[in-house]
Amino acid sequence: MKNQADQRRLLLERHLDSLRACRSCPKMRSPPVPGGPVISRVMLVGQAPGAKEPELGRPFAWTAGKALFKWFKKELGVDEDQFRRSVYMTAVCRCFPGKNANGGDRVPSRDEISLCSRWLRAELSILRPGLVLTVGKLALAQFLDDVPPLTEIVGQAFRMEKLGHSFDLIALPHPSGASPWHRIEPGKSLTKKALGLIREHAAWTDRISSGEHDSAEIFPRIALLP
Ligand code: URA
Repeated sequence: MKNQADQRRLLLERHLDSLRACRSCPKMRSPPVPGGPVISRVMLVGQAPGAKEPELGRPFAWTAGKALFKWFKKELGVDEDQFRRSVYMTAVCRCFPGKNANGGDRVPSRDEISLCSRWLRAELSILRPGLVLTVGKLALAQFLDDVPPLTEIVGQAFRMEKLGHSFDLIALPHPSGASPWHRIEPGKSLTKKALGLIREHAAWTDRISSGEHDSAEIFPRIALLP
């Protein structure tokens, strides 16, 4: 009989196999780009991979990732490799949406977001994180019905409830070069404050040390997911 941490890992690996095989959205450029099978109490939710990520085979592998990992290195002392090994990296959409007419990345449609959200729901149920980090507004919108301006959200922690599971949410701005929000005030100070809140959070400190971080009750629940 496998212990609970092994079962959780098995569930996550099966989940990732199914996710890699997903071809539900005709306009998306498959393949999906999941993160690694990291059993963590911290989950980072990005927007969608860019053009480079499918080729490189991991989320946040290009410019936005460089900026994101720089924040974590500077404020939390964790480098990219340590981050990828200790935080579960997920996203609103798992495939590159393609380019829009202006040459930017296409914003996923409401239907695509809704179709892809089943993967995130399953991940919340498998991992039951203590801390969720959203990156950008699209990710935040998965947790809040109305997304207020970032100045009212970034730099604070919010207690959330989703799928009967409670966790803290700390929002980060999108680190893409396209938006200057995090480089100019008040965004710059608020981003630093948000990173400080992550550093002090118990789930961050203990992010991979407890594979047993929740009850066996997750297993029947998972069976109910689509
Ligand atoms: N790259 C990703 O993998 N995700 C994002 O949200 C942005 C860039």
